[in-house]
Amino acid sequence: MTKSKFKGILIKVLVVAFLLAFGSFKNQKASKPKNGIEQVNITDKFWGPKLQTWRKTTLNDVFDKFEGNYNPQIDPSLKSQFERSGSTINAFQNFDLVAQGKRGIGKHDGPPWYDGLVYETIRGASDFLARYPDESMEERIDGYIDRIAAAQANDPDGYLNTYTQLMEPDHRWGFNGGLLRFQHDVYNAGMLVDAGVHYYKATGKTKLLEVSVKYSNYMYQEMGPAPKKNIVPAHSGPEEALIKLYWLFKDEPSLKNKMSVSVNEDNYYDLAKFWLKNRGNHISLPLWSAWGNEVAEQWIKENKYDDPKYGNHVRPSWGDYAQDSIPVLEQKTIEGHAVRATLLATGLTAAAIENGDPRYIQTASSLWDNMAGHRMFITGGVGAIAHDEKFGSDFFLPNDAYLETCAAVGAGFFSQRMNQLMGEGKYMDEFERVLYNNVLTGISLAGDHYTYQNPLTSEHHNRWEWHGCPCCPPMFLKMVSEMPDFIYLYQSNALYVNLFVGNETVLNHNNIKISLKMKTKYPWDGKVSLKVFPETSVSLPIKIRIPNWALGKENPFDLYQSNLKMPVTLNLNGNSIEVEPKNGYVTIDRIWEKGDEIQLELPMQPRFITGSKDVKVLDGQVAIASGPIVYSLEGNNNPELANLKINPDVPMKMSFKPGLLEGVNVVTGSATNAGGENVTFNAIPYFAIGNIEPGGNYEVWMDKK
Ligand SMILES: [Zn+2]
Repeated sequence: MTKSKFKGILIKVLVVAFLLAFGSFKNQKASKPKNGIEQVNITDKFWGPKLQTWRKTTLNDVFDKFEGNYNPQIDPSLKSQFERSGSTINAFQNFDLVAQGKRGIGKHDGPPWYDGLVYETIRGASDFLARYPDESMEERIDGYIDRIAAAQANDPDGYLNTYTQLMEPDHRWGFNGGLLRFQHDVYNAGMLVDAGVHYYKATGKTKLLEVSVKYSNYMYQEMGPAPKKNIVPAHSGPEEALIKLYWLFKDEPSLKNKMSVSVNEDNYYDLAKFWLKNRGNHISLPLWSAWGNEVAEQWIKENKYDDPKYGNHVRPSWGDYAQDSIPVLEQKTIEGHAVRATLLATGLTAAAIENGDPRYIQTASSLWDNMAGHRMFITGGVGAIAHDEKFGSDFFLPNDAYLETCAAVGAGFFSQRMNQLMGEGKYMDEFERVLYNNVLTGISLAGDHYTYQNPLTSEHHNRWEWHGCPCCPPMFLKMVSEMPDFIYLYQSNALYVNLFVGNETVLNHNNIKISLKMKTKYPWDGKVSLKVFPETSVSLPIKIRIPNWALGKENPFDLYQSNLKMPVTLNLNGNSIEVEPKNGYVTIDRIWEKGDEIQLELPMQPRFITGSKDVKVLDGQVAIASGPIVYSLEGNNNPELANLKINPDVPMKMSFKPGLLEGVNVVTGSATNAGGENVTFNAIPYFAIGNIEPGGNYEVWMDKK
């Protein structure tokens, strides 16, 4: 560690210790449930129609396909996916079989984590329902919940993992010759808990929440310090879910009276902390990378770790892949399977929000800094390597990288939690980057085709109808359905304006209602108006995020640089305010009157981006962005794409095309072709690739003239 880096961390720890001493950054929701953001209504031209497509088309499409309404033979790649993962048809039938008492019957539809994917989709649906009531969707989900609850009721402990029950009933939690890393028992349980919390918040219904509580009680009884079992989730996600369950009952103690099962919320928090602390606490075998996955798995299935010579309370290591090589609080770099890694970091950050422990805060910060400063692609994507779907080493950012949609969602959730923990804008800069690019490209404009990998170059880009491992559509739905809740952050008695999305919102600030109206055509135009209507004059610090890209700083660690040199302007009731952000925000602290208006204008001129000299593969390359949108050149309107060299000395032009791709800004500029002639290049937003002509080629980084 360099001296200055250490100093930076030390300052951070001191700042956080100070804030905690005065209770500033404690979870506001936890202590003052009636003081905060109330319903956020989206009025946005960019997000509004998309949210409608996703809740009407995508949600039903994903549930239909989980019910088996598709043809696995539709394309050869899907067929081979299915052959690899078994006959993947009806996720809900698994629950019915368990409810009927079937065990070890050798029949289970889909991969072992299919239960978890269904729960994730219910969580996504819940967040849509909270904003857009929909009786038929609610009925549909209630039907699923009845089947899930019936399956749980068939086990005296409240255990539920349909794969383990139908295929390997003697291997609960992967013990006794099983393999937790494959079976996903704890992961599925965590996703169930998460769905239970979100569905309760959306509908006030407690059935799925009761299932979640019953399961959490059972896990708390089973897992923990000796004599309980030494179990950590081999796929993260449950850590944050259990903390959310704890927060729910802490915020709303009277809810316990509505439950037919006992609730002790402290246990759920303790279990989440046990999972976090207990990573790295194992017998250091098998050696996953040295032995190879197959040998290592066989070694575990043969129970080789269960030998008295290893002592009591032992378990095998889940390896770097599952962030289990060393204890979490000793991890300095973000490693292994990128979805697991980002979800573990999200859970760790949630715990840090709750406990304010400087070691948690420092670890979460180190992981984020490593991710954003060394391992994040220009689209916000993470997880460079296809093998084990994992993070690569620092500055390994190849254009054909893996970049799973799920990992992008995980990175977004991690950044959002970091913003909540630290109150700094840079985290939302990277949230916004990944949201508008790597996350949004994961779905077709029509809302019924999806991606798994999102490289920055492709010869043949295609979104699929369904997949043998359809993990990405549920993760996508979780992110976009919750996005409206990330527009504002109300914390420490201040309002953070984090995203520029048209909305009408009510804030309850010390029992004074304040209506907020944001209008903008962002990301196609940089003007944002925020009008404030308090029911009575009120003092409130409003903190406006000024994205770093708008100030010419493309990445907080200079992993990327841009040539943007245009001012940001900010006005209050027509009077200019100096734009000198602190921690990413300009704070306007005043007494607000009805109709006060903040006007922000961000420079949306298209800009050229280059990579740090540490990224060898980007040497001589250039990418294009406007605002938060990264652009891409497709072969269909750049016939000489493979041979084009961009001329970055010629300013680009941008224009809005209302009839193209539901209305986007297109960028044109100057390039040289193989014959040395000047030609015009055409770029469209990266998120919209593959919609004009599916199956085509595209590039994000281009050779520079
Ligand atoms: Zn995925």
